[in-house]
Amino acid sequence: VLGKEKHSACTEFNLEALKKVIRVFHPEDSVVSIQGTGHEIHAIGGGMLGIIAGPCAVENEQQIINIAKTVKAAGASFLRGGVFKLRTNPYSFQGMGIEGIKLLAAAKKETGLPLVSEITEIKQLEYFNGIDIIQVGARNMQNFSLLKELGKCGKPVLLKRSLASTAAELLMAAEYIMDEGNVNVILCERGLRTFETFSRSTLDIAAIPWLKQRTHLPIIVDPSHAAGDAALVPAVAKAAIAAGADGLMLEVHNDPEHALCDGEQSLTPDTFSDLMTDLKKYAELEKKRL
Ligand code: PEP
Ligand code: MN
Repeated sequence: VLGKEKHSACTEFNLEALKKVIRVFHPEDSVVSIQGTGHEIHAIGGGMLGIIAGPCAVENEQQIINIAKTVKAAGASFLRGGVFKLRTNPYSFQGMGIEGIKLLAAAKKETGLPLVSEITEIKQLEYFNGIDIIQVGARNMQNFSLLKELGKCGKPVLLKRSLASTAAELLMAAEYIMDEGNVNVILCERGLRTFETFSRSTLDIAAIPWLKQRTHLPIIVDPSHAAGDAALVPAVAKAAIAAGADGLMLEVHNDPEHALCDGEQSLTPDTFSDLMTDLKKYAELEKKRL
């Protein structure tokens, strides 16, 4: 796959520029693993499906602890929860900030689930000591100064594809992080802006095998932000595993109707639990483990 790729984007790009992310120079799958509080390993990649579940945003202590327990009982391996939210509408709930980080820590103490949360500015990094995987959201995928700093921070980074970037640009963004010495990068496909309006974003399902063929980095899929509708999420989640994803990021809320953020796309605890039961069979089919 070295050399110029003609159909990957509007313009050609040179895979030789991707020294760190490219599979040619690192044939084995990379695995990102976190040691849990009970010394158990939570892994994404290399045959392990990482299921990251939780609310779009941390709202209060009861909410995050309740959801953490629920998703753990259903088999999730990581808890997500946004505290610094990048909202399209400036008057929407912007997240709890540092107070939310403390509540995530409480949820981890209660359940042992490693934490995933989004950073939106590098000055927030000092609050992320207790966060196990730092998420870079779609809107910051090409915030190269942020990526470079996260490349130096020594923590796993979950890099979401921008809603208007090619898969090749996602690889180049990952290269920015890796070039600073950070080998723990997870990619995330979360859908693109297209002319289609029934979904929030159009999931680029073919990007999963395309990326898997070109990079050793684990790639997960976020069906929640792609579909934007909880009724579509289970089917999209299964399709992602069938396409070769190394895991999923799923929004789950104990009371989606009253969620402060993204309730319409959040699974209820029951739907999430049913999906997890189905996913075990899909994982087996793909010779992977949940
Ligand atoms: C999120 O995961 O909470 C989020 C905001 O997603 P994205 O950056 O993909 O829009
Ligand atoms: Mn969300």
